[in-house]
Amino acid sequence: MTAKIKHKITMIGAGLVGSMMAIFLGKRGYKVNVYEKLPDIRKENISAGRSINLALANRGIRPMQQLGIMDKVETLLIPMKGRMLHDKEGGLQFQSYGQKPEEVIYSVSRGGLVSILRDEAEATGNVTFHFKQGLDSVDYTNNSITTIDKAGNSQQHSFDILLGADGAPSKVRKSFEKGGVKGVTFDILSHSYKELTIKADSNGSNRFKINKNSLHIWPRGEYMLIALPNLDGSFTVTLFLPNDGDLSFESLTTKESVYQFFKEKFKDTLELIPNLAEVFFENPTGMLGTIRCKNWNHKNALLIGDAAHAVVPFHGQGMNCGFEDCFDLNALLDEHNDDWPEVMSLYTDVRKDNANAIADMALENYIEMRDSVREPKFHLKKAIAFELENKFPNQFIPRYSMVMFHHIPYAQAQARGLIQADILKKLSLGISSIEQLDINYAEKLIMSLLPTFKT
Ligand SMILES: Cc1cc2nc3c(=O)[nH]c(=O)nc-3n(C[C@H](O)[C@H](O)[C@H](O)COP(=O)(O)OP(=O)(O)OC[C@H]3O[C@@H](n4cnc5c(N)ncnc54)[C@H](O)[C@@H]3O)c2cc1C
Repeated sequence: MTAKIKHKITMIGAGLVGSMMAIFLGKRGYKVNVYEKLPDIRKENISAGRSINLALANRGIRPMQQLGIMDKVETLLIPMKGRMLHDKEGGLQFQSYGQKPEEVIYSVSRGGLVSILRDEAEATGNVTFHFKQGLDSVDYTNNSITTIDKAGNSQQHSFDILLGADGAPSKVRKSFEKGGVKGVTFDILSHSYKELTIKADSNGSNRFKINKNSLHIWPRGEYMLIALPNLDGSFTVTLFLPNDGDLSFESLTTKESVYQFFKEKFKDTLELIPNLAEVFFENPTGMLGTIRCKNWNHKNALLIGDAAHAVVPFHGQGMNCGFEDCFDLNALLDEHNDDWPEVMSLYTDVRKDNANAIADMALENYIEMRDSVREPKFHLKKAIAFELENKFPNQFIPRYSMVMFHHIPYAQAQARGLIQADILKKLSLGISSIEQLDINYAEKLIMSLLPTFKT
């Protein structure tokens, strides 16, 4: 990959997406300067920020395979084969995510992954990170940015192309709005989250106190608790709860009320997180929201990752979608000979509808995770969906699988998912087990409603 046109690329934000895009651009031969407001996690012991670990799936893996870095990333991964549901009495039920051996998702450390991406970006020889330098303002008349450090010292830097990878609160996106760009919405969810930890077992050979290869969920209707494994045997636990109301972050004001809440609703966690009521108040509560942008490009600047499309975390796709942005942007640079003005507008066209689709599906998945997974009908529909995938693989793939295990554009997965939901509703009506499925009726519905996948 060599750059036909040697633009000077300035990137704001060295998070997961910015660091990955820096590798692609460095490999293309661009000189890339990345300004990051935080210290470097590789050198200073700082918090990885929201969510200590994340679920990595196929859309995020493909660009890393293309970059040839998966052998390094694999050392960080813990496969999660399905959901382990914890009921109120402490009973467990496992639900497989897919039905093929490779259909798993992976728990990965945010800090570990971003460190690998930064190392690989620097290894291209073309990427320079400038830590503790936050973007302050953008001047599109003179193509320059002003950065500022903690002491308040500011510096100006010129750019040819500006990439905004500065996450949900993006100042680059805000500079678009200041420049008259309309059509940005930020919908804050009425639920927030708080992280806790199940520490590794110090006794015995198995350090994992609960099943290592599952994403654990305690679904409770209006709210839920989840846990993802870490390599050291611990689990990062996240409570998702309404901001206000009878049972909410607002109502949990004392250690006693927290203890009672967990005792009543998540009894089996009391033993797993002994100091729960204490740490609850030490850890911050994070807000969640959805950002949709009509324009991802403005003059010679472009948004990638959460800066363009922050989504709620319930499909585990925010980072994966951002990595797919990098993959698609790189493909467009290949296809259009690094013609940036053309690539920028095409990239917005290619990505925007897909990002909006995953934003919708992520919101829907919150209901599925915290509530629907408890219903017998949900399990029946899942079993029917697997059966239909086996019998009609060119037409029917369960929606969760389309999103997590394939590269079918999100918008297409959403549209097909709607048709499939209707088919599953019809087929599950009046039956209570997979053995009662009317396969002839299923075939008729599928043939008439679902087009064959294009290869
Ligand atoms: C609780 C939770 C769980 C999640 N779980 C998953 C999951 O399982 N799977 C998944 O795919 N996604 C998940 N996500 C989403 C994922 O975290 C984001 O999609 C991902 O971090 C986006 O990466 P990014 O690089 O675009 O933005 P960010 O990670 O936000 O990085 C932006 C970077 O820009 C820097 N920055 C910001 N402003 C400035 C400035 N003015 N100047 C310089 N630098 C600046 C920041 O310091 C940061 O380093 C989760 C999110 C949350 C909140």
